[in-house]
Amino acid sequence: MLITQRRTKILTTLGPATDNAKVLTEIVRAGADIVRLNFSHGNSEDHVRRAELARKAGVEVGKWVGVLGDLQGPKIRIDRFAEGKVMLVENEEFTLDVSLGANDGTAKSVGVAYKGLPNDVKKADVLLLNDGQISLEVLKVEGPRILTKVLVGGELSDKKGINLQGGGLSADALTDADKEHIKLAASMKVDYLAVSFVRTAADVELARTLLREAGGEGKIVAKIERVEAIENLTEIVKASDAVMVARGDLGVEVGYAELTSLQKLIIEECRKHNRVAITATQMMESMIYNPIPTRAEVSDVANAVLDGTDAVMLSAESASGKYPVKAVQAMASVIEGAEKYETSHTHLRRRDENELFGRADEAIAMAVMYTANHLKVRAIVALTESGSTPLWMSRIRSDIPIYAFTRHEATCRRVTLYRGVYPVAFDITHTSPHLVYAAIFKLLLEKKLVELGDHVILTGGELSGVAGKTNSMTILEVKL
Ligand code: PGA
Ligand code: MN
Repeated sequence: MLITQRRTKILTTLGPATDNAKVLTEIVRAGADIVRLNFSHGNSEDHVRRAELARKAGVEVGKWVGVLGDLQGPKIRIDRFAEGKVMLVENEEFTLDVSLGANDGTAKSVGVAYKGLPNDVKKADVLLLNDGQISLEVLKVEGPRILTKVLVGGELSDKKGINLQGGGLSADALTDADKEHIKLAASMKVDYLAVSFVRTAADVELARTLLREAGGEGKIVAKIERVEAIENLTEIVKASDAVMVARGDLGVEVGYAELTSLQKLIIEECRKHNRVAITATQMMESMIYNPIPTRAEVSDVANAVLDGTDAVMLSAESASGKYPVKAVQAMASVIEGAEKYETSHTHLRRRDENELFGRADEAIAMAVMYTANHLKVRAIVALTESGSTPLWMSRIRSDIPIYAFTRHEATCRRVTLYRGVYPVAFDITHTSPHLVYAAIFKLLLEKKLVELGDHVILTGGELSGVAGKTNSMTILEVKL
């Protein structure tokens, strides 16, 4: 029996609920392809330990596991209350006061660490607190104080986030804490670094520059969660390696009603520009407490798969929920279910048909997918250094698995995020040229990925071991 594989990947956030080698191994076995370290919570030791545990779990299961570090960004938060929490009552007044002490909040006012906030808001603006649970209308701004009227009240506790409805907060995308986390990410050799609250391509480029300066080689993920990021979507997508539809904050800034269309638009834009898309937040939210997902959650995950996302993400469901392993299992089976009945399994052409290929290796990748989708070969094998050929291939919809054969561990881990791409460690420079086919067939047969007599498409360059040099495709019959 041949192994069929799930194409859409699972990005699993680690946290207290996964701080255990056994649980983490089960999570990887259940289908976690890449893990997320959320730098908003926990300390450096937590992150270092979790990344190590995840990589070890991968070794245990015999699977490459990628690591993504997620920067906190300028999430604007209220300070603390003297009593820990207060109750805000509709139609009463409440003041956000940047001059107030950090622990001095009361039922009348609370401090804010971001001192620029009074300059960013004006009369009639609506501020949303605690992911939109509470809303405040600005009555007036008086120096350091923002006087508001409570539109929707409720319990408000320490350090809850603040968003401005419609966007427009000017805080820089990278805070001092983020700059420290970038150094940590570089030292941990994360495969991806996610940048929160980006506004422009320059924010993405700055993060990449800082990561490179710190010696990190990770790829950059732009989180789309501000109105400005939607306005500048194309330039941000082009500046990034991957993009996250960060539905939590985005839903607060643009209003949740527009999220579904925006998700489709962002994923489409990613595929068009050969970038990777992640769909995130509340995908299996009820599984924080329950062992099975709601039908609406099942639908949400399946629809993200149909939209063409590369990966779906688990947040609190895995990081701090009651059923982290079950959440991964449920997600994996929903993805498989969606992929089974997918109406458009294959897509024969690239998104923008008029765009010329930029490079020879890109042209080869597209020729491979056209051929593979018509010839119905069993597998595609891309001999790759950086993983760019399999990335291009995976932008075209297909049922045919793409194996990234590479000698670089970093490439093995990077492609864990690409839809339909699976890493295989293979050192071409240690294989004599006339034995390459035999060595590839042997690996594929051992892993039960092909059978004798199957056809596969192989891509590579005549100068093996050099990045960007793929210039040939060969159709081969698997034999001994
Ligand atoms: P967060 O990002 O979990 O870091 O806030 C994702 C989102 O906003 O959806
Ligand atoms: Mn967010």
